[in-house]
Amino acid sequence: MKELSKIMRNLPQSGIRKLQDAAREVPDAIRLETGEPNFKTPDYICEAATQAMKDGFTKYTAVPGIKTLRDVLAEDFTKRLGIEITANQIVVTGGATMALEITLGCLGNPGDEILIPDPSWPVYEMQVLSHGLTPVPYVMPADNGFEPKRENIEPLITDKTKAIMVNTPSNPTGAVFSQETVQMIMDLAKKYDLYVLSDEVYDYLTFEGKHYSLKTLDDDGRVILISGASKKYAMTGWRVGYAIASEEIVSLMNQLMVPTIGNATAIAQKAVEAAVTGPQDFVEASFQDYKKRRDAAAAIFQEEHVGFYYPHGAFYMMVNIACCGMDSEEFALKLLAEEHVAVAPGGTFGQSAKQMIRISCGTEMEELCEGIRRMCRFIKKYTK
Ligand code: PLP
Repeated sequence: MKELSKIMRNLPQSGIRKLQDAAREVPDAIRLETGEPNFKTPDYICEAATQAMKDGFTKYTAVPGIKTLRDVLAEDFTKRLGIEITANQIVVTGGATMALEITLGCLGNPGDEILIPDPSWPVYEMQVLSHGLTPVPYVMPADNGFEPKRENIEPLITDKTKAIMVNTPSNPTGAVFSQETVQMIMDLAKKYDLYVLSDEVYDYLTFEGKHYSLKTLDDDGRVILISGASKKYAMTGWRVGYAIASEEIVSLMNQLMVPTIGNATAIAQKAVEAAVTGPQDFVEASFQDYKKRRDAAAAIFQEEHVGFYYPHGAFYMMVNIACCGMDSEEFALKLLAEEHVAVAPGGTFGQSAKQMIRISCGTEMEELCEGIRRMCRFIKKYTK
């Protein structure tokens, strides 16, 4: 038979998925590898979906999403960002994953270069490659709190550079970019005429300092803000995310929505509308919970004298495993086999994190702490 897609066959495998598959074979494993809230979707959100089904709201919707949802999102982002966002600047998609995917589809031509953070969520690289674009990683130095400096980015910009992807608060590092970093990125984007894909799905999880949205510095429509309901409302399985962009870009995105998904799931859109307009107590309570977990995790690493990087946002933590002299994937698989703890290998997030692993504080407190204790024991056992 004829050859299948070269691009797809050469796409790197996510190291997180690999560990997830391996962890499924260890039934009592403590799962710290996945970036998923352990909470259930709040009842008032589920009830809105049930009601939508009962009302027969089960048909195709408008391509960019139902107007009532885009109106409430526009109002919410306008209030939170302090700049005017209209419903016409929003496309509701199948998760933030798809919002990123259709944005890349609208911005790039084959051969264009896209700057991606190193370390970053492995999906960025896969998405860039799957569009026939070239990923160019820029290092986020650990000794600068995983915030990029101008010299980490500017020398990589060429005539082919089309866009820069940014993620604050960051998965996997938990870094929250300062105002200076955000301003520096926007200055470079303007100087070299780049689009900015700003993934801010963790904007509500900023424990110290303040979240600076790159969209607030956008005065000519070059920033595409990516967000979603998965993490904030514990709705990972509902698959709803959004892209906020200029009307020109939105019109191309709508064109790409047609052959890809048509529209986001109707009842899930109704559920997210309820999530955004309803009481926000869940968001506040889960914020406090994640913060407590982050603090407890940090306390154990300090007590055990194991090197880790203190995160100021999101629900992840990077741990230094250089002392063990193992590749991060080898470390993760051995840890799973010996201590029944699954973690994400740093190498899957980028070259610069090959001597780190990522844990997710999406897991509830007791398991999280037990998993970390076992990992510390493992690190001490193999320290050279
Ligand atoms: N962006 C980042 C940085 C993420 O960590 C994730 C999920 O882990 C996503 C986007 C995807 O979110 P969604 O479930 O809305 O597709």
